[in-house]
Amino acid sequence: MIVDVVIAGAGPNGLMLACELSLAGVRPLVLERLPERSQDNRANGLVGQVVRMLDRRGLYERLAGVQDPPRPAPGFVFGALPIDLSVLDDNPLYLLPVPQLRIEQMLEERAGELGVEIRRGHELTGFDQDADGVTLKVSGPAGPYTVEARFLVGADGGHSIVRKLAGIAFPGVTTDTTISRTAHATVPAEFIDPATGGLDVPGYGPIPPLLHHRTERGLFVYAPLPSSTAPLISTMEWNGQDAEGPLTLAELQASARRVLGADIAFGPPDGPGPHLMRKLNGGNTRLAERFRDGRVLLVGDAAHVHAAIGGPGLNLGLQDAVNLGWKLAAEVRGTAPAGLLDTYESERRPAAERVVMSSRAQSALIAPGSEVTGLRALFTELLGDPRNVRRIADLMSGADIRYDVGSDHPLAGRWAPDLDLEGGGRLAELTRDGRPHLIDFTGGDWGHPATAGLSGSAVPCTALLLRPDGYVAWATDVPQPDAESRASLRTAIRRWLG
Ligand SMILES: Cc1cc2nc3c(=O)[nH]c(=O)nc-3n(C[C@H](O)[C@H](O)[C@H](O)COP(=O)(O)OP(=O)(O)OC[C@H]3O[C@@H](n4cnc5c(N)ncnc54)[C@H](O)[C@@H]3O)c2cc1C
Repeated sequence: MIVDVVIAGAGPNGLMLACELSLAGVRPLVLERLPERSQDNRANGLVGQVVRMLDRRGLYERLAGVQDPPRPAPGFVFGALPIDLSVLDDNPLYLLPVPQLRIEQMLEERAGELGVEIRRGHELTGFDQDADGVTLKVSGPAGPYTVEARFLVGADGGHSIVRKLAGIAFPGVTTDTTISRTAHATVPAEFIDPATGGLDVPGYGPIPPLLHHRTERGLFVYAPLPSSTAPLISTMEWNGQDAEGPLTLAELQASARRVLGADIAFGPPDGPGPHLMRKLNGGNTRLAERFRDGRVLLVGDAAHVHAAIGGPGLNLGLQDAVNLGWKLAAEVRGTAPAGLLDTYESERRPAAERVVMSSRAQSALIAPGSEVTGLRALFTELLGDPRNVRRIADLMSGADIRYDVGSDHPLAGRWAPDLDLEGGGRLAELTRDGRPHLIDFTGGDWGHPATAGLSGSAVPCTALLLRPDGYVAWATDVPQPDAESRASLRTAIRRWLG
């Protein structure tokens, strides 16, 4: 039997891709080397367009536990500098504080509902590809076996064996100057400031909750997250000494003392675990030189890794998966227009490059030293201007992504704005099935333009063609369908939907 698509890796991005392929009528096989989901939680939340993207698939409410649509955040941080997002009239930055373990659990449940087969304890160990397909070598609980597939997608993380075996280079930089320490721990009750929910540390002063807090000696984070009984404490230091061995609370306390110049006696966390105790030395910023080699593609961390600051990883990776899913499904079904699958890389590489740029800039802004303090003072001045706040919010959310879809309308190539539909529904309710939609705002004859919000301005629009990934393939503001607009719509349908 030949499987249409094998996905190596049941992390968040592999699972999301599996859901998207299934929605588009292609049932993939997912291979995951771990017999059970890892209990090592990485992300503590989703930041950016990905929150709205999950809403458009009906998955936001499963994570948020509410029926209401997502709302933009009133504030956030860029490089440990607070950003007041309330100055924006259509703030694009959405946040969803939920642990990655919960996101993976939800996506695995969803994949199961859609009939995806996930083989746990089955590791991809090698593959060969030719013009017709890929032969995979797999090591499973009952021994080695092979699988024939038409496509293989590496969603197997930063150390991707798929990327390595495909001979795709992973250029970038590795830094070894930082040590970050993170643990669930209790703090003395008298240090907690009930007014802010943050800390007031004797000998240091106030520390706001949930934000990166920089001093000239390092970074400190106090995060009392709703998902955990004990707060998450983090420090980051540069050029510090590593105490050998696994992290201990005493080591974390010593690090906090160096960063803050004051003592906080951390205690072991109460309540049910899993409790985090993690030390990371250095970090990688790397981008795969290609996202595709013949019948082999890469998504998520297999294609790009960068600092976790600002939480951009899943915004990037989950949207890779949604961008790839419908295109790969069309290729498998034989309905894809020529070149459609290549637009996966031409659209997602620039998005990854922007995340790399943003995470490098933020890493520079949190570093210790008086020059950085000067740079931060300048940035703080710049962030007093709402136009700069908008640029940073667009960058962090990915709202400034504009794909080249071959149309000049201001909405074309952009994430479709939230629209209220006739009869009271939201656009997000229409898009759960992952299908393309032609949306007419005028009741049939494109009459008077409706307006759609875009980067703070209202854009006239009478009809738009929505791609399955939520981006606008074509839009018009002509009051009546005329020969030119009909022809451009037909061109867009052929170009994107075959
Ligand atoms: C400390 C930390 C904090 C972070 N915080 C955030 C945050 O707040 N917000 C955010 O958006 N992102 C955050 N990230 C980034 C985010 O965790 C990653 O981007 C995300 O996990 C990538 O998902 P993935 O599915 O691409 O890869 P992974 O999560 O790495 O999953 C890859 C899967 O492939 C499996 N696998 C590997 N090799 C094989 C093989 N040969 N055969 C079969 N299976 C295989 C692995 O077992 C694993 O399950 C953080 C990362 C770190 C390290």
